[in-house]
Amino acid sequence: DTQTLRNLDQAHHLHPFTDFKDYAAHGGKIISRAEHIYLYDSDGNKIQDAMSGLWCCNLGYDQDSIKQAVFDQLQELPYYNNFFRCSNQPAVELASKLCELTPERFQHVFFTNSGSEANDTQIKLVHRYFDLLGKPNKKHIISRNNAYHGSTIAASSLGGMKSMHEQTMGLNYVHHIEQPHWYECGGDMSEAEFGLHAAQALADKIDELGEENIAAFIAEPVQGAGGVIIPPDSYWPAVKKILEERDILFIADEVICGFGRTGNWFGFETYDIEPDLVTFAKAVTNGFMPLGGCLVADKVSNVLLNGAGDFAHGLTYSGHPASCAAGLATMAVYEDTGIIESSARDLAPHFNAQLQSLVDHPIVGQVRSKGLFAAVELTDDKAARTRIAPDSAAAVYCRDVAIEDGLMVRQTGDAMIMAPPFVTERHEIDNLVAKLTVALDKTARQFGIS
Ligand code: PLP
Repeated sequence: DTQTLRNLDQAHHLHPFTDFKDYAAHGGKIISRAEHIYLYDSDGNKIQDAMSGLWCCNLGYDQDSIKQAVFDQLQELPYYNNFFRCSNQPAVELASKLCELTPERFQHVFFTNSGSEANDTQIKLVHRYFDLLGKPNKKHIISRNNAYHGSTIAASSLGGMKSMHEQTMGLNYVHHIEQPHWYECGGDMSEAEFGLHAAQALADKIDELGEENIAAFIAEPVQGAGGVIIPPDSYWPAVKKILEERDILFIADEVICGFGRTGNWFGFETYDIEPDLVTFAKAVTNGFMPLGGCLVADKVSNVLLNGAGDFAHGLTYSGHPASCAAGLATMAVYEDTGIIESSARDLAPHFNAQLQSLVDHPIVGQVRSKGLFAAVELTDDKAARTRIAPDSAAAVYCRDVAIEDGLMVRQTGDAMIMAPPFVTERHEIDNLVAKLTVALDKTARQFGIS
């Protein structure tokens, strides 16, 4: 029964990104079932998922064709590795499909189980690329403050979240620059000015470290876990120009943005930027099976393919047949239904319009969205953009009351974060915004703001 499960969970299960002491004392929900865009807990509560799981179930929880593809693959070939000069059909087909779905210059894929491992792999790929070119000093990587690129030691280091650095010490060849987060860091600058200022931080860091020492710049087109940081329009064109003039590779982390989140198949299309390497995971299987990987452009793969000796890197489950079968079935749904295009055209504008109606709420400082990706910033002073309470207490409260009321949203800093599944219907968007409004009202009352 539920109570027994909860007791065992508290006694034995260490949860990711969780205060262990607090969880052991209070426990959590047991999610027992999911359907369409709804989660059901073991107490029978129904919760609308406004986060697509962890930004991965873009197609919601039904999708029988993906489930069936995994089942069928497990019957045919449940496992074999891709070492020993062996391959398997789903891995081959998915690699080809991903190359077909991305610009012509992407013709190679390396598979991992997760986004974290994929970003670790990217570091090894760019280091090997420059080693093979006879530029062994090019080892440094530039990332951005408040970025999240995963949880392995290297990916934690790429990330710019202070708490993660404190726990991992950080790799000494990873450096962080300004994030393009106008609301938090823009001060008196206009958004356009701040976008240029944040881009200039990249040029400055390159000058400081020396271009001859830098391998790559890694960034998400829109920072997701950092708080859905939609960059000012001036940001990416300026960064693109800086990168075009430098001998530095650009890794686009598309773990969240990839597969439709910002309104196009990939975030680099939304912002017209040209990565040399692309990290993907999450929605590549609609979150149903673990899978991540790196897409490698010809500029890099041509060098890698001509290098003698092993690339000393691989995972037992690189190109796992069942995960790749899930990936292929997921690509088929995206393509056959045209849902990435139709949700960008029909649902995203409605979502954005509904959310914009919240800007007059007494505790809302900013609403920002791109595609089906949004953040609502809470404040007690719209002009000064100050936080309501220390330690994000207001946003945490708002999140908790929303979940209690049947809406799964997330909080980062003082922002309420949303990434609804593309299969959400218009009336369900309305329900999302109505429930969020109730949570905002309760938060305003709780913190004495009217
Ligand atoms: N990169 C980004 C942008 C992410 O948002 C995440 C996870 O949220 C990762 C990498 C890490 O992916 P995973 O959790 O699959 O290791």
